[in-house]
Amino acid sequence: MRWSLTIGSFMGTAVRIHVTFLLLLGWIGFAAYQRGGAVAARDSIMFIVAIFICVVLHEFGHILTARRYGIVSPVITLLPIGGVADMEKMPDKPRQELLIALAGPAVNLVIAALLILFLGAVDLSDAIQIGDPSVNLLKRLAAVNIFLAAFNLIPAFPMDGGRVLRAALSIWIGKDRATRIAAQIGQGFAFLLGFLGLFGNPLLLFIAIFVYIAAAGEAQMTSLSEAARGLKAADAMEMRIAVIERSASVREAVDILLATSQDEFPVVDASRRLSGFLSRTNIIEALRASEPEAPIAPFVRLEPETIDGRESIDAVLPKLTGGEAVGVTDEEGRFLGLLTRQSLAEIMMIKDVRPDWRFSPRDDSRPTVA
Ligand SMILES: [Zn+2]
Repeated sequence: MRWSLTIGSFMGTAVRIHVTFLLLLGWIGFAAYQRGGAVAARDSIMFIVAIFICVVLHEFGHILTARRYGIVSPVITLLPIGGVADMEKMPDKPRQELLIALAGPAVNLVIAALLILFLGAVDLSDAIQIGDPSVNLLKRLAAVNIFLAAFNLIPAFPMDGGRVLRAALSIWIGKDRATRIAAQIGQGFAFLLGFLGLFGNPLLLFIAIFVYIAAAGEAQMTSLSEAARGLKAADAMEMRIAVIERSASVREAVDILLATSQDEFPVVDASRRLSGFLSRTNIIEALRASEPEAPIAPFVRLEPETIDGRESIDAVLPKLTGGEAVGVTDEEGRFLGLLTRQSLAEIMMIKDVRPDWRFSPRDDSRPTVA
């Protein structure tokens, strides 16, 4: 996600803060300073850090539950609406998704319960005073945790409640329709939030925009996976593409760059195995850093993402929508073609016009060699 800063890494998951999360924290701090000066601002900063820790713990509730099902989250991003754990994949079983979604809000409820147990009792009217430094910090923290749990359980994407709803609906009507319904509720909720933001707290407008974009993204991802369902990587790949030999010189790479309109070039070794990628930027960088007759090899981005041509493209959809190119190989690992965001866009357009379109098999074809 753009506009995010990495602040550290815990248990193999990088924690990033989105700029709008910082804006929320800054707004709370500023409000406290205006009301009570420097002391209030200091308390407010402690409070902010405490909220931050609770949000991180919420995310790790999701992450550690997901890990039980073998799903790893390399990064989490903190947003004003909570946080987003970028899971490598979502579980296919609705029951697992349900438990992963519930684990986050459950962490906040446990924190709130522990704080209330420690404090004796919490007046619910304190809940509205979360920006008021005269109210005990732990009381406010308990209130914040209840708020976080409640807000995240709103049954709309991208909140955890949306995933709970989707998982529950999936059992009855299938994942695609369930996602569309949860996404529509999410967008409806975003409008409501934006409307409230216009007349009340402008911060709600920020949150509304986020909720809307996230819900739309989820809906798009679903229609994409619907269009791509059952499609083999070899059926959808781009084949008329130029490849660059691993042994090529910088000059040869530049010539191929000029001769095509590609901006991503697969690099193959002598036995036509895909060994990496060179982007237009990589080639220009090579031209800047070395002589024209020098080898291009040091500039190749190694460890390319690949998929066997006979496999369904579902597995690499998130990579493709993220803008990464995926190499398609035959059973011996030889390069056949390339899947890109462009390939997906074309599949979508074709399926839009002819939903029952059957893609021609091209198992025996080989790509053009530049
Ligand atoms: Zn959550």
